[in-house]
Amino acid sequence: PPFPIALAGPVQKGFGRGGKDLGCPTANLPDDSITPISTVLKTGVYYGYAQVVPPEERRTAFRPEDVKVLPMVMSLGWNPFYKNEKLTAEIHIMHAFQTDFYGHEMKAIILGYIRPELDYISREALIEDIEVDKQVALNCLQRPAYQRYVNEPAFALGG
Ligand code: ADP
Ligand code: MG
Repeated sequence: PPFPIALAGPVQKGFGRGGKDLGCPTANLPDDSITPISTVLKTGVYYGYAQVVPPEERRTAFRPEDVKVLPMVMSLGWNPFYKNEKLTAEIHIMHAFQTDFYGHEMKAIILGYIRPELDYISREALIEDIEVDKQVALNCLQRPAYQRYVNEPAFALGG
């Protein structure tokens, strides 16, 4: 696949399961942001960087570290564990935010593939694999060649 792939859009409400059920909140991209990647990427888990861009009037709710370019893992798929009916792209940003950012613009850059989408026999097995995904992503993003994406102009606030 042609990495890097840039994605952006306002964060959508999902079923609210990522955070509560799995201890891993995932910011959902809108359908029209997913359409272009659905034809070039297979379903599965990817790694890259993401950035939340709050609107001007909400900027004070975010600390400087919250609006940086941050490491992320993205799940692209039909979510067989939950028998979802449509393709979703959900991004977990590896950062402790103090507030939700529903409706806010999120920019992302996908840099690589981690694994295919799997079905799980239990919630615990899924949670365990998500932890492995995060470690894999952080390790992959250590590559010096990726550091330039942290400064990618596409991430510039307001740009
Ligand atoms: P939903 O089904 O609505 O996506 P989640 O439980 O997956 O619900 O929570 C996702 C929401 O949590 C995001 O839309 C965002 O506003 C918020 N959030 C807080 N911290 C994070 C994070 N580190 N990564 C992604 N989303 C986060
Ligand atoms: Mg989610």
